[in-house]
Amino acid sequence: MSKQAMREEAERLIRESMERKTLVVKQGDTRIMSTCGKCGAENKVSAPKGVSRVSFNCKECGHAQVTL
Ligand SMILES: [Zn+2]
Repeated sequence: MSKQAMREEAERLIRESMERKTLVVKQGDTRIMSTCGKCGAENKVSAPKGVSRVSFNCKECGHAQVTL
């Protein structure tokens, strides 16, 4: 294996591990700020990645709703 090929191989491995790390971050829960439709309070709702509509109860008035 030439030096050039070894360098390319090393760079490829680094790139792959970085992509894997990004993927792990992406798979974590996301925080959605949602305003209550009833009392207007800001609610912090955690949602699994890829899910944009999460049901939650308003922390102020307890109104059950779904994030937009
Ligand atoms: Zn509310």
